[in-house]
Amino acid sequence: MVKDDCIFCKLANGVIPAASLYEDDAFRVILDANPASKGHALILPKHHYQDLCELDEAIGAKVLNVAAKIGKAMTDGLGCAGFNLVQNNGEAAGQTVMHFHVHVIPRYEGGPKIAAWDPGAVSAEETKEIIEAVTTRL
Ligand code: AMP
Ligand code: ZN
Repeated sequence: MVKDDCIFCKLANGVIPAASLYEDDAFRVILDANPASKGHALILPKHHYQDLCELDEAIGAKVLNVAAKIGKAMTDGLGCAGFNLVQNNGEAAGQTVMHFHVHVIPRYEGGPKIAAWDPGAVSAEETKEIIEAVTTRL
């Protein structure tokens, strides 16, 4: 399904031209318009899924292979020293476009710096609570 008013549906399906790195029957990979680093790309499924929880299983099974292919080509072609996959779900998690996508962000020696979290701490009691809260819903 394609959503008429979704910018990523339009980019993924070539309705709006994009700086395209890769395309197959299920995905298009484009350069992010506001990159975190040189080569920052977005993997877009051609069908509309709001987020990871809505994603079709078969598409989910393919997306990491696409990410690996792109990451390897970036490493070879752009000379990055590594790359991050980032996938935001929900506004609180930083999702701004409500069409599932995976960021592939090349990382270079010497930067740019990309924010990470401050490592926290967790008690044994809280660990137990978390395990109970999550595993009973799986
Ligand atoms: P997220 O915050 O995970 O929803 O990421 C959305 C990403 O899409 C951001 O990094 C934006 O820079 C990028 N973006 C939004 N509109 C476009 C566009 N028209 N072309 C390319 N990238 C876009
Ligand atoms: Zn869409």
